[in-house]
Amino acid sequence: MKRKGILIVVSGFSGAGKGTVMKELLNCYDNYALSISATTRKPREGEQNGREYFFKTIEEFEKMIAKDELIEYARYVGNYYGTPRSYVEKQLEAGKDVILEIEIQGALKVKKKYPETLLLFITPPNAKELKRRLIGRGTETMEVIESRMRRAAEEAEGMSDYDYIVVNDHLDICVEETHNIIQSEHNRVFRNEDLMNQIEEELRGEAKGE
Ligand code: 5GP
Repeated sequence: MKRKGILIVVSGFSGAGKGTVMKELLNCYDNYALSISATTRKPREGEQNGREYFFKTIEEFEKMIAKDELIEYARYVGNYYGTPRSYVEKQLEAGKDVILEIEIQGALKVKKKYPETLLLFITPPNAKELKRRLIGRGTETMEVIESRMRRAAEEAEGMSDYDYIVVNDHLDICVEETHNIIQSEHNRVFRNEDLMNQIEEELRGEAKGE
């Protein structure tokens, strides 16, 4: 019986290291597909169009909204970010577990549209470490770092809406925990109706044959 893919949303404060965790997860296991978002943010050094993001102008992004090409979109620190629909739907049908690495407003919109979505929140062990990582990244001005820290304080209120919280202190442990959570999620009763129906039917058949 073909296993259905799970839609997984991974959120976490900017600087929590979710990007690194996701990259490692994809390196270590083959059943994951990572959705690439569209954004109006300018590329950071080293980022490539179509790899980290599809970089769009505001006009292009608004056209995607109008054509209903996005599952969800949100504004985050002055820019638009959104999830293209077609890739996600294709990969889920192919049985892949599809990961959306998106912020909290988008996460809640996805959960509302697709209630079976698994919501994971990745956090550094404490706030000092978060600031240290944002500064260490060296890609943002102090002003942007401060606004991302303020945004993190707002986002912290939303953590309780998630299904699981994973601490990213040691990368390997965080990756393994995330993978284990997703694997267990496949065993949830509501995700296995076909299997249960099949077993029920077989057992009824066996009982009749007695
Ligand atoms: P960054 O600018 O650091 O790449 O991303 C900023 C925030 O936007 C992160 O929290 C990231 O997870 C989120 N984000 C990235 N893509 C999307 C998306 O498609 N939709 C939403 N709602 N958030 C996104």
